[in-house]
Amino acid sequence: MLNFDHAASTPVHPDVIRTIAEVMEAHSGNPSSIHRGGEAASKLLERSREVCAAALGVKSGEIVFTSGATESNNLAVKGALLGRTDGKVHIVTTQIEHSSVSESCRQLEAFGIETTYVPPEADGTVSPDKVLAAVREDTALVSVMHVNNETGAVQPAAEIARRVKERSSRILTHVDGVQGFGRLALDLNAAGIDLYSVSAHKIGGPRGVGLLFVREGAKLFPLLSGGGQEGGLRAGTENVASIVGAAKAFRLAAEGQAERFEKMKRLREKLVREVRRHEALTLTEPEHPAPHIVHFTFPGLKSQVILHTLEELGVLVSAQSACSAKTEKPSRVLSAMGRKRDHATSGIRFSLGDEHTEEEIRLLSEALERTVDRLAPIEGRKR
Ligand code: PMP
Repeated sequence: MLNFDHAASTPVHPDVIRTIAEVMEAHSGNPSSIHRGGEAASKLLERSREVCAAALGVKSGEIVFTSGATESNNLAVKGALLGRTDGKVHIVTTQIEHSSVSESCRQLEAFGIETTYVPPEADGTVSPDKVLAAVREDTALVSVMHVNNETGAVQPAAEIARRVKERSSRILTHVDGVQGFGRLALDLNAAGIDLYSVSAHKIGGPRGVGLLFVREGAKLFPLLSGGGQEGGLRAGTENVASIVGAAKAFRLAAEGQAERFEKMKRLREKLVREVRRHEALTLTEPEHPAPHIVHFTFPGLKSQVILHTLEELGVLVSAQSACSAKTEKPSRVLSAMGRKRDHATSGIRFSLGDEHTEEEIRLLSEALERTVDRLAPIEGRKR
């Protein structure tokens, strides 16, 4: 099978698997225990925190380990709004965020918090001017993702954070960095980003581990109460072995970012040329595309039909984001971009990974050609 669904999850890097197995075998201590076993686990945990901090260019005390980016996003959004006493009850976000951000906002609305959802432009990019225009006196948080997980549109997250901070240093800025980290450079300090979510399984780490960068001084209300782990922001015994493995994956991702960007960009350009050859397909063309995502629609057909045809031909891809893949509803992201229903129900995402080669792009292109040949006549279309 050819896996072109790396934006959903990546294979775990062999060194990471080895590391996790070694830690699991050698360390059974709880990092909060004060005996030798606990201390050894605690050292590993703190060393991992340093490794992650270095990968992000921040301080180790600013890293909170979580169960993944869904939790990181929940902690950033709800944590920034709950328990405030300063009357700041407004969030600015966009219509194209991952559901872990948008559903967190929706939940908060039940508690009297208001959210402004800024629409994207037709190419899937959010305008910094529109985000800034939505900021109010009572805004507590601005949350804009770095790379959209469906279309691959790179968002001006750094510019938005910088301008929000210029407007008021008290507004917290959050960036969901899941699809950008390890693929695009982003200087959290220069941009004035306060909160930044990443997930290990999108860059060669294990599923079920993520982190939230919380800038020193940024106050969050913890969502999990208990033993006060993770600086009091996330109670619960840490998953030490997986965290050590995730730290290795984050380090490898950060170290290889520039090279990965160039390689993926080259492969992406080839793939884009292939998609463009087919009249039946409409390539989604963001102004700034992420190097690992190619998105197109096949109007007249349902995403699932295209996806399963590709699967029969040996290729795994996604329709919408993996988290909303099981729905037949039109894509929320494409609808927000103003795409008509026949486009919003027929999106397909190819996403590239580290191990892909030109030969695999060629095989994918062949499978795409056969898919179009097979399905286009169904809709009375000719290439
Ligand atoms: N944000 C984005 C942009 C994502 O692509 C994903 C994964 N689909 C998440 C958040 C959630 O990450 P996790 O799977 O680690 O919960």
